[in-house]
Amino acid sequence: MALPIAHATAGFLIHRLDGRRTRLQGWLRALVYMAIANSPDADFLIGFALGAPGLYHRGVSHTLVAAIVFGAVAALISRAALRDRWWPAAVAFGSVYASHLVVDALTIDARPPVGAAFFWPFSDAYYGAPVTLFHEILIDGQSRLGFVDSILQWRTAAVLGRELAIAAVITMGVLAVQSVWRAVGARRATLPLVGTAREEDLA
Ligand SMILES: [Zn+2]
Repeated sequence: MALPIAHATAGFLIHRLDGRRTRLQGWLRALVYMAIANSPDADFLIGFALGAPGLYHRGVSHTLVAAIVFGAVAALISRAALRDRWWPAAVAFGSVYASHLVVDALTIDARPPVGAAFFWPFSDAYYGAPVTLFHEILIDGQSRLGFVDSILQWRTAAVLGRELAIAAVITMGVLAVQSVWRAVGARRATLPLVGTAREEDLA
């Protein structure tokens, strides 16, 4: 399991890269995206309520089908509440949800099974990325007390620190590339049209 920071960072970056102009903008949209990027791990809550937090973890909520269904339904709500266009909204919300699967695939799995059955129901096979970036928090999914105790460990703080550092580097990198991209675009827009000027000279 990756920590919420890595997932929130993925949600924030998609917010930054989403150039749509809708009624949901700014920090509110960033927060919504950060929450959506973490939402597949809400499967812990169902298990927690039943006394075994790990019961449904990395099940159906961690599949591409769930990402598509979530994107479609969230876009319907967005269209009704914010008069958002359905198709671009479905792509945006579905991508934010799917980013959770990507981050999880990039997380070390110290205990099997590795990754998740991302292609369920078409395949029951578990997939994880060959190269991992984030360290895992070893969660005790058997009991509520064990679950809370496994989170409140010093090793979780170490994983948290590493995840924060990686998130900061990636965020700064993406924001730097984006600002350079925008500066180049703005410069191009203000440059005189050389071809047209020359044609005018010849005339
Ligand atoms: Zn997850």
